[in-house]
Amino acid sequence: MNRIVFLGTGGGRHMMFSQLRKTGGMYFELGDDKNGLKFVMDPGPGSLVNARSAKLKAEGVEGVVLSHHHIDHSTDANVWLDGLEKPFLIAEEHCVMDKAELGEKDYDYYPCVSPYQRKRVGKLHAVRDRGVVKMKGIRFEAVKSEHYGPTVGFIISTDKFRIGCTSDGRHYPGQESRYEGCNILIMNVLVPKGVEPEEKKHMSVDEAIKFIRGMKKKPKLVILQHFSLWMLRANLWKQEKIMKDATGVQVIHADDFMQVDIDKILSGNATQDDL
Ligand SMILES: [Zn+2]
Repeated sequence: MNRIVFLGTGGGRHMMFSQLRKTGGMYFELGDDKNGLKFVMDPGPGSLVNARSAKLKAEGVEGVVLSHHHIDHSTDANVWLDGLEKPFLIAEEHCVMDKAELGEKDYDYYPCVSPYQRKRVGKLHAVRDRGVVKMKGIRFEAVKSEHYGPTVGFIISTDKFRIGCTSDGRHYPGQESRYEGCNILIMNVLVPKGVEPEEKKHMSVDEAIKFIRGMKKKPKLVILQHFSLWMLRANLWKQEKIMKDATGVQVIHADDFMQVDIDKILSGNATQDDL
């Protein structure tokens, strides 16, 4: 079965600290036992605990994927890497390398994966924009995001499907063309319709509409996640309907522990209960 389980759908500092929405990232189970992978993406605080609560077999997870080093995306990377046997790690390069290693001076950050856990990783892939990693029939392509610091989204594809995960960041011209051909698009949308934040570092509903309208071939399903308190107060059902009406695409918001059956979505057999 190809599936995604949301181990948390909250995003940002306040949501992370309040845990009104959990912050565990996403669990992916793709392909079959011979050719496939189980991994977690952007495991923020609570990821492992939430995976256990969801009765997922944590021992079966083979690796971790990190889009950037922010706390709400990465603290449990160390937890997962500590428990797994020779896990793989695909991470935006600043998550694992310090300034000296990258030859950078100006940007102030610290790698979110501890040096100890980095040593325990079986296969380390430090990526930047356009970096590609292929593993057991799954292809990961990093796509730059415009966020506070270095961040990438990912396109995860097999010969059957293409899933886009934009990660954090505001919309930038040409971003949608990179995600062209995605069947499922998972967007981190933190700013409700009609709102102009002072700091434009996150995707808004207006920008997400522009993004989807700009795609030549529309995705079968757009899933909104990584919600701020702002989005929760603005009514997620209302926000997804605004996007659906504006784009003609099926748009849903994710809930904590929601499971998406990728095969059902692709075959068009998903009922309202499946969404
Ligand atoms: Zn972030």
